[in-house]
Amino acid sequence: MQEIKITRAATLKEKPDSSTLVFGKSFTDHMFIADYYQGKGWCDPRIVPYGPLQLDPAAKVLHYAQEIFEGLKAYRTADGAIQLFRPMDNIRRMNLSAERLSLPQVPEDLALAGITELVKLEQDWVPHEKDTSLYIRPFLIGVDPALGVHSSHHCQYIVIVCPVGAYYPEGLAPVKIYVEDQDVRAVKGGTGMAKAGGNYAASLRAGDRAESKGYTQVLWLDGVERKYIEEVGAMNVMFKVGGKILTPDLNGSVLDGITRRSCIQLLKDWGYEVEERRISAEELFEAARNGAMEEAWGTGTAAVVSPIGELAEGDEKVIINNNEIGPVTQKLYDELTGIQWGRNADPHDWIMKL
Ligand SMILES: *Cc1c(COP(=O)(O)O)cnc(C)c1O
Repeated sequence: MQEIKITRAATLKEKPDSSTLVFGKSFTDHMFIADYYQGKGWCDPRIVPYGPLQLDPAAKVLHYAQEIFEGLKAYRTADGAIQLFRPMDNIRRMNLSAERLSLPQVPEDLALAGITELVKLEQDWVPHEKDTSLYIRPFLIGVDPALGVHSSHHCQYIVIVCPVGAYYPEGLAPVKIYVEDQDVRAVKGGTGMAKAGGNYAASLRAGDRAESKGYTQVLWLDGVERKYIEEVGAMNVMFKVGGKILTPDLNGSVLDGITRRSCIQLLKDWGYEVEERRISAEELFEAARNGAMEEAWGTGTAAVVSPIGELAEGDEKVIINNNEIGPVTQKLYDELTGIQWGRNADPHDWIMKL
């Protein structure tokens, strides 16, 4: 790998108050960029002062959404060290997403160095307060200045980082979820299994509609039969029904979440039976009506786990676990955050120390 050239910012920003951090708003002093040219490969890896990108107005990403991204965090441990959680899983998923969007593969050593070297340079930005971390957003864009519908010959891999607080500052309060019956997020053969920005653009309308009805997020149904549940907002989703854990299988339109994967492992470690399969919304409502539904929660890097207290579809509403966080949801949260912040043992080698 080529050496990363560092250009330091002339003046450094004032760091925000760690007790009032808002997710994704205050970025650090520097960012990482590398360029890719077809025929030449990756070149010019560099860390430069954080600031606006120079993009041609015809850049492919702006018109045809040739973009994919990742999200992970750097955690401060009690002894002041900094560590990452399963970063190679993010890098491998980024390359799967890249393949789907006809973006070039980023060599794993370059992808990782972009993250680790930036976090090391910005180490004073990794906050110390409980539940805070440095959120890392790597992304890949096609920037050819041409409106023809072709994949880009010039692409960029960029990493930006921002300190973040607890996703739910008031604690893990259960959220209300609306089963979306009009828009779909993804179909098999589409881009649902990729972390592509375009998926998010297409999901905003349903999220806005759910919010205007008083719900936090939507539960997405499959795009073909509109019967089987897939994800909740931008999180994977799990249910505890009759003692067993149910979660949709990775059917080609569900994103392969790293938190999902980690929760499944922990649940199996604890002796739970985990069924990854097709689950209809009707099956869930029936389980809730007859008392078999014990807990429901979303999983994702930003919030770790997010308990679901109410599900609504059309005029029907069901309350889950008395609208309180359930014991398994709480245990998953405690165990995963314990590993991430270095309070608990790491039996599966998920932690990479910086
Ligand atoms: C990122 C994401 C998730 C969660 O993935 P994690 O790796 O656990 O953060 C789930 N669903 C969608 C659509 C996502 O974009």
